[in-house]
Amino acid sequence: MTDQRSDLDRGASASREVADLPVLRLKPHEERRLQAGHLWIFSNEIDVAATPLTAFTPGQCAQVRSSRDRFLGYAYVNPGTLIAARILGRDPVHPPGRPLLTHRLKVALSLRERLYREPFYRLVFGESDLLPGLVVDRYGDTCVVQTGTAGMEAMKGEILDALERVVKPTGVLWKNDSPSRVLEGLPTYVETAMGEVPGQVEVLEGGVKFLVPLASGQKTGWFFDQRENRAAVARLAGGARVLDVFSYAGSFGLQAARAGATEVLCVDSSAAALEAAETSAADNGLAVGTRKGDAFDVLAALAEEEQRFDIVVIDPPAFIKRKKDHAKGLAAYRKLNQQAMQLVARDGFLVSCSCSYHLGADELTEAVQRSARHLDRLAQVIEFRGQAPDHPVHPAIAETRYLKAVICRITGD
Ligand code: SAH
Repeated sequence: MTDQRSDLDRGASASREVADLPVLRLKPHEERRLQAGHLWIFSNEIDVAATPLTAFTPGQCAQVRSSRDRFLGYAYVNPGTLIAARILGRDPVHPPGRPLLTHRLKVALSLRERLYREPFYRLVFGESDLLPGLVVDRYGDTCVVQTGTAGMEAMKGEILDALERVVKPTGVLWKNDSPSRVLEGLPTYVETAMGEVPGQVEVLEGGVKFLVPLASGQKTGWFFDQRENRAAVARLAGGARVLDVFSYAGSFGLQAARAGATEVLCVDSSAAALEAAETSAADNGLAVGTRKGDAFDVLAALAEEEQRFDIVVIDPPAFIKRKKDHAKGLAAYRKLNQQAMQLVARDGFLVSCSCSYHLGADELTEAVQRSARHLDRLAQVIEFRGQAPDHPVHPAIAETRYLKAVICRITGD
């Protein structure tokens, strides 16, 4: 394995002194969460009498100190958000900057290279890779980057430099169009950061070549987090009639078709997504049907037509984005699961996914169970699955564990 510390050592000063950055002081005892490994500092934990948040510009770096003046780490600050600062590193010798970013990227890359043979993956998953607020997806020589916080936005130059050193991409795209940026006081835009960024790239997954639109695609273009779950569904797909709901570019459905599904129907509200699914199907010599519309309406229509499927996949967008949406979101998950299960043929499978951090795995399982009872059927969970390993979980930060996929067989009762 390579020595990943060399970049840091080159960037380090000889002394172990803390870099000359403004101090952000915590109130007494508020260092405990940080000491347990968490990276976030909430605005009410800061001793604003000693170090007023208003003295910081959004994204400015600081040295975080306890009420007893103990150095706790370097962070970037946003005086306007509830999470007022996020830790970037705890070693006094390595302040924020290009050497630290280069080091972090190398560590992130070495995990992905171990996991995957081909350079298609989430290279950086924010907090879990100790780069809070940064997401980098890699498509071969092209990187798609999201800077989700003012702190990461302020480091764009250094991020690009570090990426050029570590990944040597031929093109980098800033895909900064997420609505959550508004909360950080950031504008939304999509822009080439360097080199040539193709309009679409090819992703090979499960034996299928997908054409993925980058600048005009959803999120960063491809949902790498479901990769292993798509393989798990493909294993069940031989001879099956498959319904892929919230299909996006047909990633579950087409891989099922490649694995021997006899018929695949993709449902999505986006015409562009379904077109991409159809194009990829044709390119791969596979057949796919599509229905554009709101998933709840399409599921109701399919039930009305008395259609049945051996596998139904539901992979909706997050219905619970904030905690206060929990009750409404839970109701939507319950309704969706019931509508989906109704279409599952006897002894078929329901693959129920949720990317809402605020929906517990138990709550999703319970939504499945309630549906089974309502429909007088038996659900047998055969797999509780989560996000792909290029989305590692930071054990101190619950929010980094967000994706659930419950695979169950639905039989008679
Ligand atoms: N299953 C996909 C990812 C799905 S992302 C994959 O593995 O790649 C969620 C998808 O749901 C998006 O394509 C979006 O267009 C679609 N969508 C969002 N709201 C919808 C709705 N109400 N009805 C149907 N599709 C919807």
